[in-house]
Amino acid sequence: MPEGKIIKALSGFYYVVNEDGVTQCRGRGVFRINNITPLVGDNVVFQAENDKEGYILEVKERKNELVRPPIANVDRAFLVFSAVEPTFSPALLDRFLVLVEYNHIEPIICITKTDLASEAELEMLEDYATGYRAAGYEVLFVSSETEAGVEQLYPHLEQKISVFAGQSGVGKSSLLNVLRPDLDLKTNDISAHLGRGRHTTRHVELIEIGDGLVADTPGFSSLEFQEIEAEELGSCFPEIMKASERCKFRGCLHVKEPKCAVKAAVEEEVIPRYRYENYLNFLQEIKDRKPRY
Ligand code: GDP
Ligand code: ZN
Repeated sequence: MPEGKIIKALSGFYYVVNEDGVTQCRGRGVFRINNITPLVGDNVVFQAENDKEGYILEVKERKNELVRPPIANVDRAFLVFSAVEPTFSPALLDRFLVLVEYNHIEPIICITKTDLASEAELEMLEDYATGYRAAGYEVLFVSSETEAGVEQLYPHLEQKISVFAGQSGVGKSSLLNVLRPDLDLKTNDISAHLGRGRHTTRHVELIEIGDGLVADTPGFSSLEFQEIEAEELGSCFPEIMKASERCKFRGCLHVKEPKCAVKAAVEEEVIPRYRYENYLNFLQEIKDRKPRY
């Protein structure tokens, strides 16, 4: 039975791609996991009726599942932040990083609009980049205006399903347009004029870029820590998780506990203070969260 990956879902059809091309499939039969609705990004087994049409028999187990956009098996998230306009915010970046880590998605930090930043601003961003790189993250500097640095993205797209995430106006669509100029995706200022707003139904589609697949709709629209428990937060900060192996108490939340190796690492400037402070702020937010039921 042929297998493939759903790259687009529209009007009850699923477009399944494999080495033989694209097959337009209907969902039919009993899926292996009951009541499952196939999602873009799903790996499926299908029955071909001819070389263009078929129906889905089975949805393979998912590695993860995003709600907005609805997409399964996301490997990477390019966290797009502009150097300026809007100003770079490490607090917001850390929030994205937590959500991405929690969903077992590998983040790539992408700083855009470097052409608009001053020397001093770039220097400050390099300082931040040093901290994030020390934590194990990849940080790329790009400009969609001059296209400087954009080629650095290609190796990170290979063989993966990626989403671009970040605040509105940071340059996600501009970057996708540099990577796939033929698609002519709408940038922010144009789409505002067309009134293409939140009300319209969003179809997500995976587009081919280089040797990988990228969601044409940005990911992680909700940035709340709804499912994350206080005890899990530390594991979403790689450098905190690493240091915590030496905390005296199991289950140390690194707040006021004695002999906390995380606090010691912050004092020794091994962990950047702003990262630790964002951790504490997020922890408080989780503790203050109202029970959901
Ligand atoms: P999105 O909301 O994240 O998709 O952001 P857009 O791609 O629509 O970009 C928002 C605005 O920033 C647009 O006016 C773009 O032309 C501009 N922009 C995006 N990237 C760059 C860049 O690298 N350099 C400059 N100078 N402007 C950019
Ligand atoms: Zn601790």
